Amino acid sequence: MHIFKHSAELLDFVRHQKAQGKTVGFVPTMGALHKGHISLLEKSYSENDITICSIYVNPIQFNNASDLDKYPRMPEKDMEMIKHCCDVVFLPNNEEMYPEKPSEEYDFGHLDKVLEGAFRPGHFYGVAAVVRRLFEMTEPHNTYFGLKDYQQLLIVKSIAKQCNFDINIVPCPIVREFDGLAMSSRNLRLSKEEREIAPLIWKSLNNAAKILLQEGIEASKDFILDTFANNPSFKIEYFEWYHPEKFIPSQQSDEQFVGLMVVWLGEVRLIDNIIIKK
Ligand code: AMP
Repeated sequence: MHIFKHSAELLDFVRHQKAQGKTVGFVPTMGALHKGHISLLEKSYSENDITICSIYVNPIQFNNASDLDKYPRMPEKDMEMIKHCCDVVFLPNNEEMYPEKPSEEYDFGHLDKVLEGAFRPGHFYGVAAVVRRLFEMTEPHNTYFGLKDYQQLLIVKSIAKQCNFDINIVPCPIVREFDGLAMSSRNLRLSKEEREIAPLIWKSLNNAAKILLQEGIEASKDFILDTFANNPSFKIEYFEWYHPEKFIPSQQSDEQFVGLMVVWLGEVRLIDNIIIKK
């Protein structure tokens, strides 16, 4: 596995590979890797000649200083985990990523104003900056993103369009623990007791989906509010049904829905979603 810390060397390597007709897949991550990240890397590895994984905790996408401080970091362990499905690891530092202040000139329409955009001011500006830089540094044919961060995936598609990147963006399914909890680097920060009750998130999303189809949108939202009101260890930040493509609040007559949820469990912010079709 090649390890690069500088973008110029990485880009030289990538261009050399592409000149030889090789295809390049790219998986951006913030490290503390788990099977969710591995699934993206394995997909890239099976679909491309060269797979690049970046590991970089992007400070400017954190709107909460303590969340950034406490974000788990374990690059050595990460590299050991991905040896079988990765050819190149990119480990940039902040100076390498942001030699100058990134552009703020994006127009995401309503996409960066609702849900994650509303609750994490500045977050998508940070995501846009890092994704744009990484795409410029890796020039991949294909790039892989998890559906767990559903709204982020739409933002990434929009960045690619606005910046005219000729990159195929591949959405990948959410990988879950045996009990349904969506895998996340932040799960490492849950206490034993919190980890035991965390599967309520996925369970309640499934129940809300059934209620949506049988009784309607409002009943399913009430169900979620009641569920978490009865479990005071959780604090719900938002739960909404949206149209998966238009990303506006659902109408009961829609054919497809995405239920998007963020809850706090103790000091840990957990995100999950469920997609359903009638
Ligand atoms: P992160 O390291 O959290 O920035 O995530 C890097 C990429 O992995 C993003 O595209 C995430 O959506 C994706 N990802 C994170 N957790 C999961 C999961 N449980 N299943 C699938 N993809 C995931």
